Amino acid sequence: MIVVMEPGASKEEVQHMVDRVEELGLKSHVIVGTEQTVIAAIGEKREHTKEALESGPGVSKVLPILAPYKVASREVKPELTCVKVGSLQVGAGKLGVIAGPCSVEGEEQIISTAKAVRAAGATALRGGAFKPRTSPYSFQGMKEEGLKLLAAAREETGLAVVTEIMSTDDVDLVAEYSDVLQIGARNMQNYRLLEAVGNTDRAVLLKRGASATMDELLLAAEYILNEGNPNVMLCERGIRTFESHTRFTLPLASVPYLRQKTHLPVVIDPSHGTGHTYLVPDMAAAAVAAGADGLIVEVHPTPETAMSDGYQSMTFPQFEAMMVKCRKVANALDIEM
Ligand code: PEP
Ligand code: MN
Repeated sequence: MIVVMEPGASKEEVQHMVDRVEELGLKSHVIVGTEQTVIAAIGEKREHTKEALESGPGVSKVLPILAPYKVASREVKPELTCVKVGSLQVGAGKLGVIAGPCSVEGEEQIISTAKAVRAAGATALRGGAFKPRTSPYSFQGMKEEGLKLLAAAREETGLAVVTEIMSTDDVDLVAEYSDVLQIGARNMQNYRLLEAVGNTDRAVLLKRGASATMDELLLAAEYILNEGNPNVMLCERGIRTFESHTRFTLPLASVPYLRQKTHLPVVIDPSHGTGHTYLVPDMAAAAVAAGADGLIVEVHPTPETAMSDGYQSMTFPQFEAMMVKCRKVANALDIEM
């Protein structure tokens, strides 16, 4: 249920209602809006709870939350969320661009990429140090050494660092070096991992599982939010379909759909979504046109020699051209980029 407070409700009244919600055996999430404060009361529905809360001081109304996800829903928080981490701002009218290699491969590779993408207008650096590879014989990432190189690239360029975390065992280590913890498609429903990142103070980029529904994605986000971490970005990175001309099928309708259902920012990954470098710039521009809050793309100094995902990675000039194109779309639609 959502306890909607009167516009002028006092702090004491809000606290009183939080206490009441908890006395009733429910978990409370206070969302302070510009107009009104609401308290999401989450837990199993019992008889007379609505009536018990409705008569509280400063309460305007008590409404049921219809969506299966609660804290992630726009019913609970109509105002859009902007996730801000250092150089990166994503959501509520701010468009962030996260760019970098699929994997961190060495100092020269990551530093030169960070400098090039920053010069072209990227607002964060991506790079995997722990890589979830389909085959155990493929390059698995540089692990801690890769994290250190990412931190050095941040030092050099000021770009916030986005990197994947694959296991609850690595939470402290990855959080120490990075600004945004990426949960990859393969781990979207690793609920213990979602809870673990929900207990950090790092922002989270949650990628959609290749065969997950929108509701499953939003419920996965709910696991993170429910632990008290509000800084969650959703990422559409394409789903598996019968179609094989692209690596995955990238549904851009996810953007306006999610905008209606959730206040969380939506980031599009046209690199994994298409699997072909030549398709990335156009799909990035289309994502901006669809209202995406962010882009995450793969860029490599020499895609031909990349240790992972070279076939979908852009060169520096290709990334620069993509940014020029996306900016034109953003300008036409009055989007800040
Ligand atoms: C990646 O970002 O390199 C990656 C492995 O992505 P996904 O989890 O979407 O496959
Ligand atoms: Mn990749």
